[in-house]
Amino acid sequence: MSKNKKEDTLKKLEKSFDVTAAGMRRIARDFHSEMERGLAGKKSSLKMIPTYVRRPTGAEKGTYIALDLGGTNFRVLQVELKGGGRSAVVRAEKFALRKAHIATTAGALFGFIARSIKDFMAGARLGAGKRAHLGFTFSFPVKQAAVDSGILIRWTKAFRAKGAEGRDVVALLDDALGREGVTALTVSALLNDTVGTLVAKAYEDRRCDVGVILGTGTNACYYEPSRDGMVINIEWGNFNKLKLTPYDRALDKASGNPGQQILEKMVSGMYLGELARLVCADLVKKKALFAGRPAPVFGRAYAFGTEQMSRIAADRSKGLSGTAAVLKELGVRKAAPEDMALMKKVCDMISTRAARVSATALAAVLTRTDPAMSRAHTAAIDGSLFEKYPRFSAKMKDALRELFGQKARRVTMALTKDGSGKGAAIVAAVAAASR
Ligand code: ADP
Ligand code: MG
Repeated sequence: MSKNKKEDTLKKLEKSFDVTAAGMRRIARDFHSEMERGLAGKKSSLKMIPTYVRRPTGAEKGTYIALDLGGTNFRVLQVELKGGGRSAVVRAEKFALRKAHIATTAGALFGFIARSIKDFMAGARLGAGKRAHLGFTFSFPVKQAAVDSGILIRWTKAFRAKGAEGRDVVALLDDALGREGVTALTVSALLNDTVGTLVAKAYEDRRCDVGVILGTGTNACYYEPSRDGMVINIEWGNFNKLKLTPYDRALDKASGNPGQQILEKMVSGMYLGELARLVCADLVKKKALFAGRPAPVFGRAYAFGTEQMSRIAADRSKGLSGTAAVLKELGVRKAAPEDMALMKKVCDMISTRAARVSATALAAVLTRTDPAMSRAHTAAIDGSLFEKYPRFSAKMKDALRELFGQKARRVTMALTKDGSGKGAAIVAAVAAASR
């Protein structure tokens, strides 16, 4: 491809991924109306799910067990709430979830989890005969009628264990624990990782009113004034009033849940690498990349990961040696400097769009409760994408400045790790106290 034609191709590509300030304002407006429709029970891409969780006082105390299921790993934690907004994770164990676990039956999946909890409890030293309360962080859309139960609406991400959709996941966990003989444990609360993240930060920071996840998937929740301050789980990953590129459409079509989780597919760690792969494959096809020589990696779905994009984005070396190393891992032995620069650009376009779309959604949540942005707000944010992707949070902040001007300073984006553990303990403590 000639240099001019290549530049033209690149310009078009950049334009298709660009989210302008006007575009952000339009997204925020649509987000507000979808939030309102969801709250009113009308058809909406935003489910706005009541969680039966309210603001903690910060005085909650005691030892609790937390289970965090929803991503690449699941974790069991022992958490100490000390009151005064202070808490500590005393012990934590991580268990890898393999494809065999998440694509099996509900009974087998929860059996594996219950056995892991049993092993963990053997070392918990809670005192003989003492009953412990467990907070279950479950990061999938759930329909709740109380804090200690919830029906799985549908699996997202790569989960597909049969016989769980439409069932109460607390009952599934309880039954599995019973089968394993774990009887001194009460599952007192079910919550989303987003809710856990919000509550964990709100326990120590009164200004915290939004929780956001930017990891394998993406979601957010907030305290809704019209529902007496109850936390509403937005399930924002499903927002769909967005302008899609042909790559977004191809990704969606080939996904396990076509037509759903449209925002998640533009934003979250599970999908960004795949978007980059699809763009690169197209550039190779157009002979704008690697002189049109097909590298096998670009022909394999999900062969390119967000973590690899992250490493390419972090590569600031003159000769792009970091990028070359990533490409080598992917089986691309020889890449010209301009090919590497182009790949870096592709990663940048995709991650910048993700940061701007997520910042816009965050802005829309903030202005729902504070339209004039007259107060200070803390958004508790968790997830590797936010934490580790180079300049992701800075790009989000830039977008907030474009939307709010000076008032963007009123927004603190606080990385809140362990939210799903500590938050689960806090919600379990509140629920156990009101039993
Ligand atoms: P989870 O969402 O599964 O609870 P994380 O928040 O750690 O866990 O997110 C994991 C996702 O983050 C992975 O799917 C991957 O796409 C992405 N990721 C992992 N490492 C990085 C990294 N260094 N930079 C950017 N994204 C990453
Ligand atoms: Mg997580």
